[in-house]
Amino acid sequence: MPDISIINDQSIPARIARAGLYPRQRKRGYLGMSEIGDPCERRLWLSYHVEKQPGKISNRLLRVFDMGDIIEDRLILHLQKSLYHVKNFQEEYSDFDGQFQGHCDGHIRGMYEAPDKWHILEIKSANQSSFNGFVKHGIQQNRMFGEKYYAQVQIYMHYSGLDRAVILVENKNDSRLYQERFRYCRKDALNLYEKAWWIINADYQPNGISKKETFWICRMCRYNNPDYCRKKWEGEELF
Ligand code: SF4
Repeated sequence: MPDISIINDQSIPARIARAGLYPRQRKRGYLGMSEIGDPCERRLWLSYHVEKQPGKISNRLLRVFDMGDIIEDRLILHLQKSLYHVKNFQEEYSDFDGQFQGHCDGHIRGMYEAPDKWHILEIKSANQSSFNGFVKHGIQQNRMFGEKYYAQVQIYMHYSGLDRAVILVENKNDSRLYQERFRYCRKDALNLYEKAWWIINADYQPNGISKKETFWICRMCRYNNPDYCRKKWEGEELF
């Protein structure tokens, strides 16, 4: 009998990839409040003005997003079983004729630190490295994800009228949890509001975070190629 364990047959991953399990593809057509804290304004501008149509996302990445949804559902269940009040799931916020939109994970009440206060609830999942960074330095200090998370809850507080928020993060490697609460900062929220207005109305793309393709944030950016970000810089003609 041949030893089938030595045959590198990847039929299951290939079949799952072909199965079309995720008909939903990225389709927004609006500027997402979850992205408004992106430290690169050019990336925001490109995602709104150039990539409004649904982009093709790999099956692998869609499964990553799906896992985020699974973690979110499980944590909401655990919060409810732990006797927190959770409501207003996916409440929508919208401005500029629907061109700026967001949906919060929910509102939560019963926090030990402020039992009677409703908070915006935002649930995230993170890999080991990001999670450890959140714990060590605080969410807001993380440039890759944390700045966006902070901006997201600020703008949600702005539109919901709530003045507190909590971000709950689960470590995807070991399921540890970490929470951080934030108060509404009107100044930060208004800056984000103005940023959204500017991104939506700008008819030229702003400078990016770095001209160096090897800059660490650019290395993980899907626009880091000659078709998008690297096609031109300020002063050159628009593409
Ligand atoms: S490659 Fe860098 S500068 Fe260009 S859009 Fe992406 S993050 Fe911004």
